[in-house]
Amino acid sequence: MSSNVETPVKVSASRLYESLMELARIGATDKGGSCRLALTELDGQGRDLVTQWMRDAGMSIHVDQVGNIFARRSGLDDSLPAVMTGSHIDTQPTGGKFDGCFGVLAGLEVIRTLNDHGIQTRAPLEVAIWTNEEGTRFVPVMMGSGAFIGRFSVDEVLATTDKDGLTVGDELKKIGYAGELPVGQRAVGAYFEAHIEQGPILEAERKTIGVVTGSLGLRWYDITVTGMEMHAGPTPMTGRRDALYTSTIIMQDVVNYARQHAPYGRGTVGLVNVFPGSRNVIPGKVTFTVDYRHPDASVLQQMHERLESVCEQVAQEHNVEVKVTEVSYFPPTPFDVKMVQSVREAAVACGYSHMDIVTGAGHDAVHMASIAPTAMVFVPCKDGISHNEIEDATPEDLGAGAQVLCDAMLSAAS
Ligand SMILES: [Zn+2]
Repeated sequence: MSSNVETPVKVSASRLYESLMELARIGATDKGGSCRLALTELDGQGRDLVTQWMRDAGMSIHVDQVGNIFARRSGLDDSLPAVMTGSHIDTQPTGGKFDGCFGVLAGLEVIRTLNDHGIQTRAPLEVAIWTNEEGTRFVPVMMGSGAFIGRFSVDEVLATTDKDGLTVGDELKKIGYAGELPVGQRAVGAYFEAHIEQGPILEAERKTIGVVTGSLGLRWYDITVTGMEMHAGPTPMTGRRDALYTSTIIMQDVVNYARQHAPYGRGTVGLVNVFPGSRNVIPGKVTFTVDYRHPDASVLQQMHERLESVCEQVAQEHNVEVKVTEVSYFPPTPFDVKMVQSVREAAVACGYSHMDIVTGAGHDAVHMASIAPTAMVFVPCKDGISHNEIEDATPEDLGAGAQVLCDAMLSAAS
């Protein structure tokens, strides 16, 4: 089980960075980001460019029915399940140059590096480009990897429409990525994903590598508070049934309770609607969302219970009706202990500063963790900013992430 610690196999940080910059030119935005919404013509051009690079690196390209791309490099024993890495190259409307693209191109850089050194792995290697990770144009997010693991059916994915009524199926055909490969029928022995952190922790802690131990679980709620609309002037402060005032008590508690569960607890109210929405009417109805996250399911359960009890309490105290509907539950996903350890060992062997971290964002790796031993490698991004055109990361950090990916994949594939 000893991995080759004194590996002379060095990735090229500059080649990786140049490829990232070249891909970013497709759909480049004024403020230095990229806009390649899933399955648009620009997404198609991005796919064409990257798959051409993959072919140039000697890989064979396989596309499944939902447009997931698998670039394969044969191993010495092709009967073994592939050691896979991957991510996505679709972006947010005002997306950056690194979210997703780094993971795919780091995988390509691993392959290019192995080619340079004439290294053949025992297990085959694959680099995946997952369809529609961002979920901006077509909902849900992480669509391609979700179909791959059987969370969504192929038919429902292909029938999904954007706001103009265009379907995933038709748009895949238009850009030439409606593949024939059945979805999900690939043997995956291990899955790695490199990604920018999309948060501020690594930068603040001055660490180069985030060893991702798993993802936060999340619970989403829709809350409706119903009081009574009354005139803001003649109605005294006592006896009001103010739905907004009452809602703010719940909102405060959501955030404060998450703060009590630092550093991993998260509590967010992101969307609020006030009815009737008039300056001089006491709000009669408010709807809002709650997003609770934590890596421990039992703490998430406490958050759930806290929310219910606070809602019950304020309903009584303020003579309003509070309805809590849970709309989503993703349990926390711990990554595979051995795989996480191999990422940690690779960081140590390379002499990179590193720390354990959990991911608060969803990634294709979180889906993949349900069918294969999975781990992720994070690198810092400037000021923790992502899903923004100014998203930035240094060539050195990106190169370090690709190096750790390379070493971890080599160890898994030998
Ligand atoms: Zn991403």
